[in-house]
Amino acid sequence: MDTLGKLSGRTRFTAVFGHPVEHSLSPAMHNAAYAALGLDRAYLAFHVTPETLRAAIHGVAALGLLGVNLTVPHKERALRMMAHLSDEARTLGAINCVVNRSGVLYGDNTDARGLEGDLRESGLELEGKLAVIIGAGGAAAAAVLAAIRLGAGRIVICNRTVARANRLARRFAAYVGTRGGGRAHELIEARGLAALSRSGTLASAALVVNATSLGLKSGPFPPIEYAATPAHCLFYDLIYARELTPFLKPAMALGRRAIDGAGMLANQGALAFELFNQTAPPPGLMRATLMTALGRT
Ligand code: NAP
Repeated sequence: MDTLGKLSGRTRFTAVFGHPVEHSLSPAMHNAAYAALGLDRAYLAFHVTPETLRAAIHGVAALGLLGVNLTVPHKERALRMMAHLSDEARTLGAINCVVNRSGVLYGDNTDARGLEGDLRESGLELEGKLAVIIGAGGAAAAAVLAAIRLGAGRIVICNRTVARANRLARRFAAYVGTRGGGRAHELIEARGLAALSRSGTLASAALVVNATSLGLKSGPFPPIEYAATPAHCLFYDLIYARELTPFLKPAMALGRRAIDGAGMLANQGALAFELFNQTAPPPGLMRATLMTALGRT
């Protein structure tokens, strides 16, 4: 890597904290942008466990890192360790970016904007239509916010732990309510995963998002009545991989549009780069680097 070959005492660092983190493609994306811009900066990956998160967050200020990304499982807990938060981080209840402002830590979240951008680029028309979000963690919150911003007429959150889906639904009903949405409580509903195997839930869906951590290496996906969805329904998996994910495979086999989270990752990464470095990465470079790393050229 060009950037890492030229480290000096003046080099400034950014990083990602995760558990696990070895698979992260963020270093490749950010370091490609540093190299292209000729910045004396480098992006590293640190394996930070839940037990070491607090010390690692203190280290951001102590070591003078410009900023760090947070990935699974730190996004919700780290929020409480910030001195300041963006409105979006407060709305989502999770952060994926820590920005070091002269030793004062500021938490932000670029996941919803990253997903919203990718869904817009896909040509999805969600205005007045149904979005089904599977999952109720920080990534699901980002998916709900993206669906609201794309004008979804109804959002159904399906999660293994229904109480968590209910909490998320209430959070966003309140959010929509404060923005003058009259039908806030009708707009967002919570269900268990069993709803996905009943055709009624999916019959009018324009978008079905997997925002769980169920992916390539975890157990089987809960049953989904793919055939009940309309022909134009878009299936979007926040997980990304070289191969088609288990969530997307049956959708693709039925001729439905199927997109994984690589575009979202590139978008949220570009927004994070700008937050950390006060300059935008070269347009399209982080996405192109990611696609190359995933074997899609
Ligand atoms: P999280 O807060 O840990 O939430 C995990 C979710 O998965 C919860 O809804 C959980 O349900 C569900 N889940 C986990 N194991 C399950 C199982 N065996 N059966 C059924 N449901 C299960 O994680 P997160 O931060 O929201 O992230 C979720 C995924 O999104 C991760 O894979 C992450 O890598 C991905 N992501 C991708 C991007 C991107 O840029 N593409 C950005 C952010 C996140 P319970 O509530 O019942 O435990």
